[in-house]
Amino acid sequence: MLNEQMYEYGSKSSVIRELFAYGLERRKIVGEDKVYDFSIGNPSIPAPAEVKEALLELLEEPAEALHGYSPAAGDPEVRKTLADSVNRKFGTRYTADNFYMTVGAAASLSIIVKALTRPGDEYITFAPFFPEYAVWVETADAKLVVTPADTADFQIDFEAFEKLLSPKTKGIILNSPNNPSGVVYSEETIQRLSELLAKKQKEYGTSIYLITDEPYREIVYDGMEVPFVPNYYKNTLVCYSYSKSLSLPGERIGYIIVPDEADDGKKVMAAVAGAGRALGYVCAPVLFQKAIACCVDVPCDVSAYKKNRDLLYHGLTDLGYECVRPQGAFYLFVKSPEPDAKAFSERAKKYDVLVVPGDSFGCTGYVRVSYCVSEQTIKDALPVFAEIMKEYQEQR
Ligand code: PLP
Repeated sequence: MLNEQMYEYGSKSSVIRELFAYGLERRKIVGEDKVYDFSIGNPSIPAPAEVKEALLELLEEPAEALHGYSPAAGDPEVRKTLADSVNRKFGTRYTADNFYMTVGAAASLSIIVKALTRPGDEYITFAPFFPEYAVWVETADAKLVVTPADTADFQIDFEAFEKLLSPKTKGIILNSPNNPSGVVYSEETIQRLSELLAKKQKEYGTSIYLITDEPYREIVYDGMEVPFVPNYYKNTLVCYSYSKSLSLPGERIGYIIVPDEADDGKKVMAAVAGAGRALGYVCAPVLFQKAIACCVDVPCDVSAYKKNRDLLYHGLTDLGYECVRPQGAFYLFVKSPEPDAKAFSERAKKYDVLVVPGDSFGCTGYVRVSYCVSEQTIKDALPVFAEIMKEYQEQR
């Protein structure tokens, strides 16, 4: 006998992983450059040189300090460095005590949900959303409620959202820049969301925490600014990760911020420490805690992603595909030329073009195209996207 829920999660692989594995097999058959794999969100630009420099320098430090345990929440000096950096960027007044180091955004979110949840609690997110939210919320014995997408601009459908709020709402999970739409929630959206949540908290006599999932915070284009949500809504808990901004997804490093201003801030931080303990997420990798502390002010060079975004966005829209112009992250959320996006994805697969149906992200009729690939892959894929579109046009 075993835990059936865990068995389910472990035995079913995600559509994204399946497509990615399929792509690897196809490459062996048709050749490396004949598979146009837009399935996965693995950063395609290398980590900045400063990361390597920091690591080489750190490796000269005494092994006991470098490879030993840090306190469960992370090295206090590292947390202070991060707090100072966030304060400089966003005008906040955090200290090391507001930070808890984690093994990436996945751990940050699962820790927060575990830390907050009581029986019967609900979390609301906005479609399209990162599918793992369901796993993290359900395993904390809470319910994930999904606000349908506003496909006009992929901001928030406030009318639909307001109907889903209730005294059971423990938290809202917001991901901006968004995977998979590439949209940055505007300042106007954040302001409206903050006002609505403040009003509802008062009405219900509860605390509603706004959990921001921010692995793409620095990956924005055209001078776009991502509003720092704690400056708009005091019950914000931040989940950050270096997986994308420093291209370090395999190193598993990120953090949680619990501001003092949040309701029961100190207690929430203690519960975060408790959840970290319960889930076995204590003491994030010390070498990488120290490495990111050395790189806090290293800018994220998004020029390669921007080039890809422009090439793919203009290329696809010129061919008649529809999508909103992404302002951040490295995904394009493209309207399927037929209502069933799974059928479109299957058809594209026949041309060795791998795109993920939006159904996995709670939004039917769209596919996600990850453009963290080489520029050449996009150049080679566009004529193939043209052939696929032609097939649809001939059918009509
Ligand atoms: N949240 C979103 C929206 C993501 O896209 C990802 C990874 O792709 C994660 C969380 C998990 O990130 P991490 O690698 O930091 O755990």
